[in-house]
Amino acid sequence: MRIENLVKRYGAYVALHEIGFELKSGEVVAIIGPSGSGKSTLLRCVNQLEQPDGGCITVAGQRFEGGKEHSRAALDTLRRTVGMVFQSFNLFPHMTILRNVSIAQERVAGRSRKDAEDRAMHLLARVGLADKAGQYPARCSGGQQQRIAIARALALDPQIMLFDEPTSALDPELGLEVLAVMRELAESGMTMIVVTHEMRFAENVSDRVVVMADGRVIEEGPSRELMRDPKTERTQRFLHAVR
Ligand code: ATP
Ligand code: MG
Repeated sequence: MRIENLVKRYGAYVALHEIGFELKSGEVVAIIGPSGSGKSTLLRCVNQLEQPDGGCITVAGQRFEGGKEHSRAALDTLRRTVGMVFQSFNLFPHMTILRNVSIAQERVAGRSRKDAEDRAMHLLARVGLADKAGQYPARCSGGQQQRIAIARALALDPQIMLFDEPTSALDPELGLEVLAVMRELAESGMTMIVVTHEMRFAENVSDRVVVMADGRVIEEGPSRELMRDPKTERTQRFLHAVR
């Protein structure tokens, strides 16, 4: 995936100023930075939940230029190729866990009920929740719900997974369960962009860290190097404040 000169405005306010970066297949990139720096806006532009005003995102073999309309087919391909997990899990409360993970496979990917449920059971096992399949989300902890949301996103076989602060609504202990699943996913070779305030995850799991401030990428580099020896004063200040 490649992002070039991405611009997003809200009225006169510029939320993203000509953002650029590239994500290689199998790479795990952590995006860190202060509140309001544009991290969520960037992720939402990547899968076109927000329409960028300028620049270009190349993903899933397609170019999405800012300020242009995209065909339904292009957006459908994009949303199948790029999975997203949010801070709030947004599970369907009236459906069982199994149904939460299987329904889009039937509706969007055209799989049979049996195939969709087999795949769902496989993914629930992978996130350690096969025994919850018949229950409803309300009976699951926040950490369990987030792992189910990850399984649901994986069910459409995305090539890239986007995470927007997936653990920030959770107690630390429950966050660890989710981070363990994400680490396993990263180690399995999934291409990932993770917006996170978990500095240990950024340092130890991601390959590369991108630091944003005021709608700009102010620094990026190999994770360990950047987290231990940040070059810009702004990154040093940010890391000092959050650690
Ligand atoms: P946080 O760490 O708090 O989640 P963030 O880095 O994800 O912050 P964004 O949510 O991307 O930041 O917001 C970037 C800027 O754009 C903020 O100043 C925010 O107020 C503004 N913004 C975001 N969405 C909208 C919107 N729909 N309308 C107007 N302004 C918006
Ligand atoms: Mg955000």
